[in-house]
Amino acid sequence: MQDFIDQAEKNGVLLIDNGKCQFCGADYQKGIFECMENYNKGLEHLDFNDSKNHLFRFLSVDAHALQHSEIHGRWSNHFHLTRLHLILEKKQTWDYNKSHLLSDHLNRYKSNKPNEFLISPESLNRGKITAKDLTKVITAEECAKLIIKWADEVYHSWNSNHGTVSQIAEGFLDNYYNQTTLRRKINNGK
Ligand SMILES: [Zn+2]
Repeated sequence: MQDFIDQAEKNGVLLIDNGKCQFCGADYQKGIFECMENYNKGLEHLDFNDSKNHLFRFLSVDAHALQHSEIHGRWSNHFHLTRLHLILEKKQTWDYNKSHLLSDHLNRYKSNKPNEFLISPESLNRGKITAKDLTKVITAEECAKLIIKWADEVYHSWNSNHGTVSQIAEGFLDNYYNQTTLRRKINNGK
C-alpha cells in the first residue's frame, strides 16, 4: 500500500480518499484506496492453478496499472504497454518467464534511453471498463471475456505511445527468438 502512496507523491499527484477512483473512475466510496484494495476481487472466478488462465492475470495487471499510471514508476508503463502490445497485437502467448525476459530487455533499453517518457492519456480517459466491473460477472468465461475487452480499451487509449512500444516489442522478439534458436542449436549439438 505504501508503495503507491510514495510513488504518487514522487509524481506530484494528490491522492483523493473519497468518492470515485480519480484515475479509472470506478464507483467507490474511498477513491483510489478502495480501488487498490479491491482490484483482485473480480478475478475470483478464475482458477490460476490452470496455466491457461495466467493470460487473464497478465492482462488485468497491465490494464489496471495503465489506468493508474501515476502511482507506478515510469518504466512500469513501458513494461505494461509493451506486454499488452505483444499479447494483443503480436498475438504472443505469454508466461512468467517471458515477463522476466521483457523486464531484462527493458533494463537494457532504458540505459540507452534514460530520458524517454510515455505520455499517459488523461485520467478517466483510459478505457471505460474498470476492475470494479469484473466483480459483477458471474462465470469464469464472462470474466475472461471482460478482461480481454478491458485490456483492449486501455491499450487503445494509450495509442499515442504505440510507435514507441512496438519498437521495444520488435527488439524483444528479435532477442527472444534468436536466443531460443541458439539454445535449440546448442541442445542439438550435444
Ligand atoms: Zn481506479
